[in-house]
Amino acid sequence: MRRLFIADLHLHPARPEHSCALIDFCEQRINADDELYILGDLFEVWIGDDVGMVTYADVIACFKQLTDTGTKVYFMAGNRDFLIGSDFCLATGITLLPDPYLIRFDQQDVLLMHGDTLCTDDLDYQGFRSLVRSPHWQQEFLAMSPALRMQKAANYRQQSQSMTATKSDEIMDVNSDAVDQIMAQYQVSLLIHGHTHRPQVHHLNLGERIVLGDWGGHFDYLSWPQGEAWHLIRQSI
Ligand code: MN
Repeated sequence: MRRLFIADLHLHPARPEHSCALIDFCEQRINADDELYILGDLFEVWIGDDVGMVTYADVIACFKQLTDTGTKVYFMAGNRDFLIGSDFCLATGITLLPDPYLIRFDQQDVLLMHGDTLCTDDLDYQGFRSLVRSPHWQQEFLAMSPALRMQKAANYRQQSQSMTATKSDEIMDVNSDAVDQIMAQYQVSLLIHGHTHRPQVHHLNLGERIVLGDWGGHFDYLSWPQGEAWHLIRQSI
C-alpha cells in the first residue's frame, strides 16, 4: 500500500497529453490498495461541475474506474479549481479534503495544503481569494450562464497575469513565517504542498517542507509506501 501525491497538473483541453499522462498514470501505476492525494490545481480552470464534467469527461471516467476498483482518491482545491463541487465528487468517487488537512502516516503527522494560503506577501491575491471563496460570490457566479462564467474567468486570469508580471519572486513564493506558524499550530514535522511550481525539499528547523512539482514535459509525484521512506519520482510525458 502506498500513498501517492500529485499537484498542479493544470489539465486543459489544449494540452491533451497531460490528461493522457494522468490516465496512463492511474491505469498503470496505481494499485487498488493505494491512496491518491491530489493537492489542488488538477484543472487549469473549473467554472462549475456542469461545464467541467463535460470538458474533462475522459478524466472523470478514469477517476470513476479508479475508485470503483478500490483506490481511495482525495482532492484538495487549488486556486484554479476551487469550484469543484458535489456533482464532481459523486461522478468520480473522489473525497474532498479541506485545506489544510492533517493526516497521520506511519506514526507521523503530516500536513497537506495546496500552498496558496502560505503566500501571505501577495496581498492582492489573498484579497481575491477571500472574495471568491465566499459562498455568496460562488452562488452568484455559478448562477451565471456558462458563456458568462467563461468570460469572467478569462478576465480574472488576465488581471492576475498582468499583476503577477510586476511582482517579485519572493512575493509569489510562500512566506517562511507562515510556514513556521502553520507547522507549529498543527505540531507537524512534515508539510506537503504544491502551488508555487518550485519543486524542492526544504529542510527547516521544524522539519521538512516538500513542494510538489507541476506537470510540464514531465510530472513529479511523491510516493510513500507504507512502512518505508517517501521518495519523489519524476516521469517524462
Ligand atoms: Mn495553485
